[in-house]
Amino acid sequence: MKVNDHLQTTNARIYAAGDICMKWKFTHAADAAARIVIQNALFLGRKKLSALTVPWCTYTDPEIAHVGLSEREARERGVALDSFIKRMSEVDRAIADGETEGFVKVHARKGSAHSLRACSAS
Ligand SMILES: Cc1cc2nc3c(=O)[nH]c(=O)nc-3n(C[C@H](O)[C@H](O)[C@H](O)COP(=O)(O)OP(=O)(O)OC[C@H]3O[C@@H](n4cnc5c(N)ncnc54)[C@H](O)[C@@H]3O)c2cc1C
Repeated sequence: MKVNDHLQTTNARIYAAGDICMKWKFTHAADAAARIVIQNALFLGRKKLSALTVPWCTYTDPEIAHVGLSEREARERGVALDSFIKRMSEVDRAIADGETEGFVKVHARKGSAHSLRACSAS
């Protein structure tokens, strides 16, 4: 089913949320969309699906987690990036927990992340 960013179907008085209309087919995504529908349909809201920041995690070992634009999505939108990598083997808490495999990679709009630069250099 097709919906616009306010989750209205082609009949503006009929809304949809969840698996039937969204690319993210997950329980919490359906829940977040249903909250938008309730606000827009019942309380004259103008909430947008595109305003959601949807995190995801894949339960491999180590896990893969992600939030925000991916490197590829940023490239496709023409957003120049500064990228920072911190290996878990350099993080005190990870060393204490014996969980030193893997890394964190943070992308920020080019020139916008002075504190991250300092953090990644330490
Ligand atoms: C095997 C499996 C495992 C999953 N595991 C996960 C997971 O680990 N984590 C996660 O986040 N998501 C998981 N999902 C996805 C998650 O279940 C869905 O994204 C979520 O249930 C979508 O919610 P929904 O309300 O859009 O749809 P649904 O939960 O499918 O609800 C739709 C409801 O509409 C009813 N219905 C259908 N037709 C009609 C009709 N004509 N009249 C009245 N009622 C009707 C149905 O009976 C159903 O109750 C899994 C899905 C499956 C199938």
